[in-house]
Amino acid sequence: MHGLSITVTGHEQKAAWRDKILPPVEQIREDVWSIPVPFPNHPLRYTLSYLLIGRDEAVLVDPGWASDEGWRHLAAGLRRGNLGFTDLTGVVVTHQHADHLGLAARVREASRAWVALGEHETLHLPAVGDVAAWIAADRVRLALWGVPEERLDEITLGERWLSTQKALAAPDLRLAGGSLVPAGGLGLRVVATPGHTPGHVCLVDEAHGLIFSGDHVLPRISPNISLQIPGPANPLADYYQSLDLIGFDDEMEVCPAHEYRFSGMRRRVEALLEGNRARSAEVLRVLAGGAARSVWDIARSLSWSRGWDSLQGPPLRLALAETASHLVYLESQGLNVHIPVRDPLPAVAP
Ligand SMILES: [Zn+2]
Repeated sequence: MHGLSITVTGHEQKAAWRDKILPPVEQIREDVWSIPVPFPNHPLRYTLSYLLIGRDEAVLVDPGWASDEGWRHLAAGLRRGNLGFTDLTGVVVTHQHADHLGLAARVREASRAWVALGEHETLHLPAVGDVAAWIAADRVRLALWGVPEERLDEITLGERWLSTQKALAAPDLRLAGGSLVPAGGLGLRVVATPGHTPGHVCLVDEAHGLIFSGDHVLPRISPNISLQIPGPANPLADYYQSLDLIGFDDEMEVCPAHEYRFSGMRRRVEALLEGNRARSAEVLRVLAGGAARSVWDIARSLSWSRGWDSLQGPPLRLALAETASHLVYLESQGLNVHIPVRDPLPAVAP
């Protein structure tokens, strides 16, 4: 694996990661700043927000999880770049997860900046009034995946999740792959990278030699590629394609949304492809054993970093949805897995 190793460039971030503290605000180019924003009660601990200062414009990438503490860290980071919230003209969010989009609504309110998401990103909020039906349908799907009755409550998306979703900013702008972020003096090219979410985007900044990779490519962990229902047909196939799109250069510095900066994007992409293929192979071995009847049966037979029994609540849900995305992918490769993953098609009348 040594040939696939990255080169860490965010040394202070790496040290902070090891010491379990928040990394410092850093000036990574003359007009580019890295601002860590706390992500409370989560093992990732912080989101790396980026401030890019153009001619008459200033753009914030991924403002982070919504909390008063996060707001203070963001304000302090802006001050290091001699800016306040009112100087911001745009907020680009790599994807809709609350540890990225969370503070965008508050930043917009304070700055009147636009908020942009990828053109294919979906916000999960069900139509108003349909919440109960939506939650009921979620439970039916989880039961189809073999989740035992007594575990359904802990992983069903409930009221708390819904209230977080409701607080997320609806975007003012949508960014298409291949377009430039509409901010003067910032040559930020959008690369559509679906997989982690349907509308995830990365930003390539050739002039600065930087790639803002969101959660698509992180230096240490492999992002969760969940099957979402409703959602894209084959998210793992999308992810593989998106890795090919972004793995074009080993020299540029990668600015991820978590952990620490590095260079060696092509090598990291190779390692992520390899890790996911190994995971698919592991799923195949469990299937070959012949005893698994459900997504749950397969998931509990796979290796998990802290063990299957440690998975509870949202991480358990992510584990099941990751397993389901491998099953869908294997099926798309011609394998008949005989495991129910999607709602059965309505019966056709004879
Ligand atoms: Zn994230």
